[in-house]
Amino acid sequence: MAYLGTDIESLKVAAEAIKAGKLVSFPTETVYGLGADAFNAGAVARIFQEKERPSFDPLIVHISHIDQLSRLTRSITPVVLRLAEAFWPGPLTLVLPKQPEVHDIVTSGLDTVAIRMPNHLVALQLITLSGTAIAAPSANKFGQLSPTHHKHVTKQLKGVEYVIEGGSTTVGIESSVVSVDEMKIQILRPGAVTAADIKKVIPEVEVVDFTKPVDNHLPSPGLLNSHYSPKKPLYISNNLDLFAGKKYGYIAFSGDGEMSGPAKVFVLSAKGDFAEAATNLFRALHYFEEEEVDFIVAEPIAEQGIGVAIMDRLKKAAFQYLKD
Ligand code: AMP
Ligand code: MG
Repeated sequence: MAYLGTDIESLKVAAEAIKAGKLVSFPTETVYGLGADAFNAGAVARIFQEKERPSFDPLIVHISHIDQLSRLTRSITPVVLRLAEAFWPGPLTLVLPKQPEVHDIVTSGLDTVAIRMPNHLVALQLITLSGTAIAAPSANKFGQLSPTHHKHVTKQLKGVEYVIEGGSTTVGIESSVVSVDEMKIQILRPGAVTAADIKKVIPEVEVVDFTKPVDNHLPSPGLLNSHYSPKKPLYISNNLDLFAGKKYGYIAFSGDGEMSGPAKVFVLSAKGDFAEAATNLFRALHYFEEEEVDFIVAEPIAEQGIGVAIMDRLKKAAFQYLKD
């Protein structure tokens, strides 16, 4: 494992590594990705190995230019182009029918492929320099916390050839994932782009929130109920009396962090800003993984706007949600 800077010479080294079938972890605005050439099946297989990710969980393919879409999907419809224009580069992943050239290992055998253009200069330069699309899941072991800083990547992954030192990510939670056809857009995973954001851009198309399982059937393979877990028990609760006398870290949504119960408090956003809270969510969980506390308690957040995505990640990370 070697670190690389974000200057153009370093990115050229990273791009050569991608071309040669190696793995590169790179920053995006959401979380760090573990990238390989999307059209090199052997390289993509190494992503699964390194992450210990089950093969039923498909990857997101990252592009830096809209012209790359046609190599990945045969469905470049007016709705797709309007979504791309409105939200790319940005934290929205589109699930579309795949081209035959896209290998089954990328899509877990599905006939659809997930595609995104990240809003991060380093990621865009890396993709362009490598001359291919880059398949990249989050750069963490399967089921563990997503990395929002290059140090989080090296904490979990040892076999990756290069990690680009891009510092902290800005959005901080994974992209919104949606499947698209001409009549309907289905939200498969909540993120910073919300159903309301999409409705504003394309009011005539139905937007369906599919993130709640119907009859135990998960519409998207990655939507396991347990995911993103820290190595310590995490409770969601705002009744701190339940934990009196215990040594725990508290993730507060807002405020100044002055409180007597917890051993340590991590405030997601002093002024209670939802986007800032999302940016800091995984940082807080990584922090308490390292700190000397026995477990973590997180304050529940109102499920509105990006709060939906924050609570989605918290509930999946949580051992228990203690509702009052
Ligand atoms: P990650 O890159 O680790 O954030 O995970 C990517 C997630 O995107 C997967 O876990 C799936 O939930 C979703 N995804 C990727 N490809 C597809 C697809 N073809 N159909 C539905 N969901 C997908
Ligand atoms: Mg992930």
